[in-house]
Amino acid sequence: MSEEKRIEIIKRKMEKIVKGKNKFNVRAITINGMNGFIPTGKRNWFRYVGRMPMSSCTVIVEKENVEIHNVIVYDINERKKGNGTKMITDIRMAFPSKHIWVDTCIHARPFWEKMVEREFIDSIENDYPIPCSNSNCVICHPIRKTGKRRSSNGEYY
Ligand SMILES: [Zn+2]
Repeated sequence: MSEEKRIEIIKRKMEKIVKGKNKFNVRAITINGMNGFIPTGKRNWFRYVGRMPMSSCTVIVEKENVEIHNVIVYDINERKKGNGTKMITDIRMAFPSKHIWVDTCIHARPFWEKMVEREFIDSIENDYPIPCSNSNCVICHPIRKTGKRRSSNGEYY
């Protein structure tokens, strides 16, 4: 499956979820003036949809910490244009005094390093390399044993 196709499917699923939540009147909640946190049913887990349909991410809120997870900018042409950054600044504004952290895969590390530098998040917690799940990503998967050609470079944000 191509990268575009994969993202398109995820995007459609997300839109369905957002619509479904609204239909059943389970609205996104506002945290510190930032609207768009949809409770997921898992304790303290939210899907942040304040920047939909451009992007979304999972936010896990603990007493002192906030973990950002599953960041995605859907449209491949809108990546690397600051859309991921905008969403992360939303999360910072929602939790100005909590320690915001991520685990990152290899290709996203430079993005998160920039986010730490600009104090939008506080730390990257994994010092070991995690390849992303997209085997077309040349950064996370420099060698492919199958010899198959690649369809994208896997840059997400
Ligand atoms: Zn990757």
